[in-house]
Amino acid sequence: MDAKDSSGQARVLISRSALLHNGRTLRRTVGPSVKICAMVKADAYGHGASTVVDALVNFGGQGIEPPAVDAVAVATMEEAADLNGMSGDVPTLILRPVENIYLGRQRQLLEQAISADWTLTIVSLAAAGDVARVAMNLGKRAAVQIMADTGLSREGCPAAHLPGLYHGIESMPSLKLTGLCTHFANSEDSANEYTADQLRRFRSATESFAAANPRLTRHAANSGATFFSKQSHLDMVRPGIALYGVDPTCTPSVERPLRPAMRWTAPLLLVRDVRKGTSAGYGQTWVADRDTRLGLVPVGYADGYLRAFSNRAVMLLHGKPAPVVGRVSMDYATIDLANIPMASVGDEVTVMDADPLSPCSVYKLAEWADTIPYEIFTRIGQRVARVAVEPGEPSAAANLPGQAA
Ligand SMILES: *Cc1c(COP(=O)(O)O)cnc(C)c1O
Repeated sequence: MDAKDSSGQARVLISRSALLHNGRTLRRTVGPSVKICAMVKADAYGHGASTVVDALVNFGGQGIEPPAVDAVAVATMEEAADLNGMSGDVPTLILRPVENIYLGRQRQLLEQAISADWTLTIVSLAAAGDVARVAMNLGKRAAVQIMADTGLSREGCPAAHLPGLYHGIESMPSLKLTGLCTHFANSEDSANEYTADQLRRFRSATESFAAANPRLTRHAANSGATFFSKQSHLDMVRPGIALYGVDPTCTPSVERPLRPAMRWTAPLLLVRDVRKGTSAGYGQTWVADRDTRLGLVPVGYADGYLRAFSNRAVMLLHGKPAPVVGRVSMDYATIDLANIPMASVGDEVTVMDADPLSPCSVYKLAEWADTIPYEIFTRIGQRVARVAVEPGEPSAAANLPGQAA
């Protein structure tokens, strides 16, 4: 792909074949009888939810028929609405529990959710009652699941309240209980015992409900647990980061052959020769210690190219590393082209590479900013176009204005 066609824009290229490869890797890991729910919250971890869902639902290959996953999950009803029906017949789960329906647009979104048959997450009897009443008014049965807290101490229903919530929901005819789930606190650490403890608590808290209602889908595993805790697979797993090709340990792994789906590129906007002693960027944090050549790249912290990368990161140009020099500003980063004499305006700069061992992999970016790949991905700004590539021609996500034709 040639950035010279990209109208001067930074873009993230999303490889459909990498997404499908990661889907197959996860499928092999869980076996044929466990369902896979793709986590596409937060705009599919910054990859572009419609692009990712389209790839996972509509594209096959290597002997596998679409859809590559059995369900998709988002955090909020707004995110589900933004999918615009893209998930087709694949069920959509909303993981953030239903809250006060009299706040803001909640009621309206709830009606949309019930009408569209999205599965809502419930953690309190009050919320169950609200959903039941709205569903009754619509003449529908709302699909709901219960999220149990087993040790993350976040949004789930505390174990002591579970039986009351379960029996309450079962007694409301306009609710249709479809599943029971929980979420792990420390699953990416394969040596940690806490995942097994949480799983034991979840099983014992839900065993009688599952026995009474064998159609309930029980699910718990995120990416870490999918790889490190086979017992936690239950009826369905909910991988996010692994689907995007990043190892849940947040370091590249040779045992788990995941392929990062994202490459972030930008055109070289400007090239300038500077004298020894010239400073570059705000605060004059970098001064040329020799005559050199600088390149300007149109990505800054407003695009999610973090200020923490200043004087630390590298980008790739013609396959060679170019250090980021001076402060990253809101709209620009500057690179030193001393070792890349053939660099010229319009050349494609790789800002984040898809190769896990690249000097500018997402793992490296996370390390430079003292964070994790999840945060690097989800900070990528709205100015950066998401473009799906391979198999098939590059196609811009339909909802992104200003994309080159
Ligand atoms: C985000 C999330 C996941 C996916 O986690 P990964 O570590 O990205 O696999 C699964 N379940 C819940 C409830 C989540 O919030």
